[in-house]
Amino acid sequence: MDPIFEVDDVSVEFNVGAGAFAGGAQKLLAVDRATLRIERGECLAVVGESGCGKTTLGRTLIGLYKPSRGRLEFDGKDVSALRGEELRSFRRRVQMVFQDPHASLNPRMKVGEIVAEPLRVHRVGTAKSRKAAVADLLGRVGLPADAANRFPHAFSGGQRQRIGIARALALQPDVIVADEPVSALDVSIQAQVVNLLKGLRAQLGLTLVFIAHDLAVVRYIATRIAVMYLGQIVEIGRTEDVFGAPKHPYTQALLSAVPIPDPDAERMRRRIILKGDLPSPINPPSGCRFHTRCEHCFAPCLTVEPRLIPAGGQLASCHLYDQALEQAA
Ligand code: SF4
Repeated sequence: MDPIFEVDDVSVEFNVGAGAFAGGAQKLLAVDRATLRIERGECLAVVGESGCGKTTLGRTLIGLYKPSRGRLEFDGKDVSALRGEELRSFRRRVQMVFQDPHASLNPRMKVGEIVAEPLRVHRVGTAKSRKAAVADLLGRVGLPADAANRFPHAFSGGQRQRIGIARALALQPDVIVADEPVSALDVSIQAQVVNLLKGLRAQLGLTLVFIAHDLAVVRYIATRIAVMYLGQIVEIGRTEDVFGAPKHPYTQALLSAVPIPDPDAERMRRRIILKGDLPSPINPPSGCRFHTRCEHCFAPCLTVEPRLIPAGGQLASCHLYDQALEQAA
């Protein structure tokens, strides 16, 4: 075990609805007491419905949001205590690839300037060495060197995402947090970009945090999976364990929606339809947050909040795996 990130009991809270007619400020707990370790070199996928807190967790990892409780460590150091050169080093070593390749590239800058910008901001190399670095980076992501002289609008969505990946690689980071990097792309292009990220992780020894809602993509790229529901991590484990025998009823429902490329198995697949909508994170349900939609809900679920406990080869936050509670029920 060689963790590069240690997330210990981290919550991220926002003030919302502070207007005079909204009855004063309310708290939105976007991430609620998340605890996980991210191992060096792994690809951890964070999955869940829109609004489950996965993007907030990703942005907290890169330092965009500060935890309102708990401790976030990068390479053994408390991120909130980093200052000066240590903070600059953290910012170099952890980079992000954004969801929308159209909005994340400045349309007035040439591709060469966009990819070189992190090097210029962090004062790495000379103008000449930065030009050579840009050519190398464009080659790594499968773009020709002359792409540097063109503007982003001259490229397709998939090519723009490659430019975003080249920019994220410029400072030779240890970790890339990719926030839904393929969900804005055509299906035919998605596989190319996922293969590119997978290849770069192997080549460069990168740690990849892959935020996504498409479970078929996640199965292909991730070594481990963390499933989030309403701000909480409800299941975490190796990809083969989570896909082979999902433990949390929410994970089971998510996976039941993934088509199986075997006609016989596909015919046998039982689709679990979740009832109701995702409750509001401003006023989440008591006890287990999933109890309003869970087909296995029993009495303790209404009042006792579950914590991540061993369930098969993975961890799941569900009372079904808490023998003491099950016997008491
Ligand atoms: Fe369902 Fe209860 Fe498990 Fe929550 S704790 S997922 S309500 S069985």
